[in-house]
Amino acid sequence: MISDRTQKTHLALAMALALAVVAAPDAHPSDSPQGKTPEKAVIAPDDADFSAFVRKATTKPEFLSPLVDHLPKKAGVPSPKDVLGYHIGTEKKLTYVADQQRYFRALEKALPGRFRTAIVAKTEEGRDIMVVYVSSEANIKNLEVNRQNTRKLADPRGLTDAQVQQLIATTKPHYHISAGLHSAETNPPEAVIELAYRLAVSEEPYIKQIRDNVIVSITGATDVDGRDRYVDWYYAYKIDEAYDGGENYGGPPYWGKYVFHDNNRDINYGVDSLRAHLNWYLDWVPPIWHDLHEAQTLLYTFSGQPPQNANLDPILYTELPFFANYEVNKLTGYGMPGVWHFGFVDMWSPGYLGFAAANHNGMLRMYEIFNQGGANTKKARLSGAQTTRQWYRPMPAVAGEVDWSIRNSINYAVTGVLTALELTSKFPTMVVENYYRKSINAVKKGADKPPHAFMIPGGQKDQTQVDRVVNLLRRQAIEVHRANREVTIKEGTFPSGSYIVRLNQPYGPLAKTLLEKQTYPDPALTTYDDSAWSMGMANNIDIKTIEDRTILDAPASLLKDDVVTIGVLADPRGAIGSNNPVYVVRHNGSLNLITLRYRLKDVAIKAATAAFKAGDEEFPAGSLLIPGSDRARKEIEALGLSGVALQSAPADLQTVEVDLPRVAMYTTWANTEKVGWVRLAFDRWEIPFDLIHKDHVQAGAGLRGKYDVIVMPHQTQNGKSIVYEQPKLSKPLPYKKNDKYKSMGFYAETDDVRGGMGLAGAAEFQKFVEDGGVLMTFGVASYFPAEFGIAKGVDAQAPAQGFYAPGPYVNSEILLPNHPLMHGYTQKTLPVRYASGPLLQAGPPAGFEQFAGTSPERPQVVARFTGGDAGVLSGLMRSADQTRNRPMIVDAPSGKGRVILFANNPIYRWQTFGEHAMVFNGLLFWNDIPAPSAAKPTTTAQ
Ligand SMILES: [Zn+2]
Repeated sequence: MISDRTQKTHLALAMALALAVVAAPDAHPSDSPQGKTPEKAVIAPDDADFSAFVRKATTKPEFLSPLVDHLPKKAGVPSPKDVLGYHIGTEKKLTYVADQQRYFRALEKALPGRFRTAIVAKTEEGRDIMVVYVSSEANIKNLEVNRQNTRKLADPRGLTDAQVQQLIATTKPHYHISAGLHSAETNPPEAVIELAYRLAVSEEPYIKQIRDNVIVSITGATDVDGRDRYVDWYYAYKIDEAYDGGENYGGPPYWGKYVFHDNNRDINYGVDSLRAHLNWYLDWVPPIWHDLHEAQTLLYTFSGQPPQNANLDPILYTELPFFANYEVNKLTGYGMPGVWHFGFVDMWSPGYLGFAAANHNGMLRMYEIFNQGGANTKKARLSGAQTTRQWYRPMPAVAGEVDWSIRNSINYAVTGVLTALELTSKFPTMVVENYYRKSINAVKKGADKPPHAFMIPGGQKDQTQVDRVVNLLRRQAIEVHRANREVTIKEGTFPSGSYIVRLNQPYGPLAKTLLEKQTYPDPALTTYDDSAWSMGMANNIDIKTIEDRTILDAPASLLKDDVVTIGVLADPRGAIGSNNPVYVVRHNGSLNLITLRYRLKDVAIKAATAAFKAGDEEFPAGSLLIPGSDRARKEIEALGLSGVALQSAPADLQTVEVDLPRVAMYTTWANTEKVGWVRLAFDRWEIPFDLIHKDHVQAGAGLRGKYDVIVMPHQTQNGKSIVYEQPKLSKPLPYKKNDKYKSMGFYAETDDVRGGMGLAGAAEFQKFVEDGGVLMTFGVASYFPAEFGIAKGVDAQAPAQGFYAPGPYVNSEILLPNHPLMHGYTQKTLPVRYASGPLLQAGPPAGFEQFAGTSPERPQVVARFTGGDAGVLSGLMRSADQTRNRPMIVDAPSGKGRVILFANNPIYRWQTFGEHAMVFNGLLFWNDIPAPSAAKPTTTAQ
């Protein structure tokens, strides 16, 4: 309900607006070619009902623009209200995706010549992902030809100058708009419904010009599952939020199946529904992708501020402010306050979803539009830097209290996008020509200037990891060659089968961005996301930068398909058959070893506890001994593993049973996102687990009776916030399956998402460990066992002031190479992503002396950060001395069990594959970890 006061305010505002609008200037942009024509007199009258609505729903006259203060009508074409029953931006109305798509289909039915819908993929939960296209009849008829022409410009190798000129002259710029990547950002999926309608039906000259000169496409809801879940949550709870303060009911604990806000951080497109957007992009290659978000005061338009990725073409860095300045200019001219660019998001990380465009020689554009979540009109308190006047913000929003409605947000969103499209329609050839120029420049740069290629040498210890990297590159349409024979160049001799990523290709700059070491341009600058992602380090494989230009002509074949690693089970005596009862599978760090173990879960498998020789081959510790069978051999080969088939196991081999643990993964309700990445990895490697939460660890939960290993992924801010989560509200907020809100209750259920496990829950974890369970904690979650005394003799501190580490890759040193966690890691040092976990301290500092000496509960440091500036391998870390010799992995025995604390986050996004094996080892060898040896170093110097 709206308070009386709100209603009165609205009435007063509506009267003021009515007066203001009468005095407004010409409602059409005056610089359209036909802008002076009084078209309104000769076309169908505008929707009078809408005009009254928008004046009432907009809370101040300056939050409306002449572009959206009226809604055109066209005979036979339904407006959004005709289908949905309400105008877009009606208070307390959010649109489910199915209804949005129903409206788009109605528009297509009424105007098939101008408007088309297409389903591009299904989501994880089986919903449709839709893209719609709107343009003139002629352009829609020519849509496929225009797509093909755009693709030719995207890869201009082999085109003659005349062909290029012909293509530039005849190709319409394709401008893609996406909404609803972030489900809590409720206005863009609404705004694009009205935007689509306006573009399809309006006969205003500037919109006709957009239709004639631009092909517009729209993804109305990028995270479809998340949008529906958020709308459910809104109608269930948030709709009751008060106008002025009071309780905020937050949002649903899940958006899409796996990740939340990080759906805009999936640098390797690991989530299928996100990959579907990349695939769509690569199919159509629109020169512009404009992604609509919701935050900031009042409309921020991205202009590509430093730090900038210097691999991207300089032309891009002129296009971004060109568009942004035009939008600030026009909207400021309409009297709309708070429109600005610069000073928010930088141009460093390539991992945002819409960066698919910038990474592929197009242009990523982005808005942040103010709203307060949901669709309730609420009092907003505008304050801070974004209400200050700057050169890039000439007319800031006025600081102080203001009523804000979702219609205000939609006015800004639609006005902004129409303005950007209008600019595009004025310079269509420029957009297309720039796109061609960036593409051809990319090819030339790799040919003319070193580096000319990256080499992924053959013969590395784990081919599955190497092949995964190749497939991740190919996923982004980067061409990869395979050497047909040995290659000798300045950098060395590489075996036949080595992979070569040549940079004289359209997506060469992207390959360079992904593969090189990130050299941060200015340590004084902050960055919005990660500062590093170097794929060689993330995957713990060797990748060489090649400056020798002859690599471009080395005999090599272009890969046409993803590579599949076929395993090899050698038989020293010839054919493999039933006379080879033992297969020895090398532990080379492959992540597929655990999949093999689970696929053969009914088979008794042993592992060697030390390196050994079988036949002429050396096998490292952790190598598996599997009873021979056709089934086992097929799985070994299919999973790309390697080994040897033997008559019998080598004599005197020390082994352990590789018995599989019962696994649980612990999640808070307050912070499910980073847990989601670990769920994704476990699902992909076929590791079964129960997702458990506060309700499962109540007093007397008996965790040990149910589980052997509990994994607690990186989440929240520290141990306390894992234990207490968010405080309870005056009413519970259930997240359970129900008939009314069908997307609730997915992945976990509870009667109240608020309130954490509490101390009683923490005590259950302690019992679990002391009774023989293994608790593995990642990143920030490692504060929990340290702060609550579950990991004995381990302390956790936050870094001191001045420390700043936006996801660099750093060096670590393996102190206990024989520890089962480190099976498959043969090097002394290991690059890892710094995850901003705790600074751990293990061993006997003051107060912990009882854990010194020979105590069986003495914590052991398995690996540590080397620290200091020299330890930063890629990206940015300030005050790096604070990490010097700090433990990265601590194995802390406790009672019959143990806590394994990772200060790194070994399963981070779909990215740190080089670190996953430590976790998988922890599962495979959960009860095979020997007691601390007195002979080994167990403490670290500070
Ligand atoms: Zn967002």
